Amino acid sequence: MKIAILSRNRSLYSTRRLVEACEQRGHEVHVIDTLRCYMNIASNSPEIHYKGENLVGFDAIIPRIGASITFYGTAVVRQFEMMGVFSVNESVAITRARDKLRSLQLLSRKGIGLPITGFAHSPDDIQDLIKMVGGTPLVIKLLEGTQGIGVVLAETRKAAESVIEAFLGLNANIMVQEFIKEAGGADIRCFVVDGKVIAAMKRQAAEGEFRSNLHRGGTPELVKITPQERATAVKAAQVMGLNVAGVDLLRSDRGPLVMEVNSSPGLEGIEKSTGKDIAGMIVSFIERNAKPNRTRTKGKG
Ligand code: ADP
Ligand code: MG
Repeated sequence: MKIAILSRNRSLYSTRRLVEACEQRGHEVHVIDTLRCYMNIASNSPEIHYKGENLVGFDAIIPRIGASITFYGTAVVRQFEMMGVFSVNESVAITRARDKLRSLQLLSRKGIGLPITGFAHSPDDIQDLIKMVGGTPLVIKLLEGTQGIGVVLAETRKAAESVIEAFLGLNANIMVQEFIKEAGGADIRCFVVDGKVIAAMKRQAAEGEFRSNLHRGGTPELVKITPQERATAVKAAQVMGLNVAGVDLLRSDRGPLVMEVNSSPGLEGIEKSTGKDIAGMIVSFIERNAKPNRTRTKGKG
């Protein structure tokens, strides 16, 4: 097959591993810089051009769209879909997953366990918003944040009020969330491919830090997940309409709670901690599913 990896940087671990996995399985693989694609939509035969060439003959794409280029990146994925090219994750699902509020609303509609979460626009409603999520300590998050940046733990009501006020004053979109203390600074990353959890790791935050992101000094560890955690991760990926997803869970006293669902989960931490060939499993998923015009819109919203 002829497979394109949409990635801005071919030297990233995830990109390199996907290239390797494609080649090992005898496929022709191209790494394409998403932002260098330009498109012709004013015709009934959609095209994508790349550095002066017309991209033709691809059977599948693996979108690795960074959070900072979601808007343009999903437009490129959509264009491939219009050309009938199979995408590992469809554009609508990527867009859905990038909006934390929209994701939580969709997940809650399907009864998936979530931390109590509130959001507001007006600073006048801060007091009540804090009450709504059960008071302090609480977590305040920028909706567009990634890698732990823009996630703040406010331990007292005064601290919560001033941080929320400051964010709203900057016109930032935020949500306010119950702090799951019993998670002990750890979360569980479940790597879902094609409706199955194929690998899982626990990420433990560094000493004195509550955010377990590997970029914030968290350490990946092997973990055995419970059947309930497995089922929750599978359901969350399904509701989001993602074939490949990194579902992050917090272990709470009332069971697993979904914190977020990632549409371009990194491969490095999970492959190194589990020793599994995740890239190979993604390519094998493509082999089983990439037929022309096979990308369907799954889920709603
Ligand atoms: P990002 O998209 O920046 O990774 P997350 O929502 O995943 O933002 O939060 C980053 C980290 O902060 C999580 O991995 C988790 O360790 C911690 N965290 C986030 N929300 C909560 C919460 N409600 N309770 C406890 N810890 C949390
Ligand atoms: Mg996260």
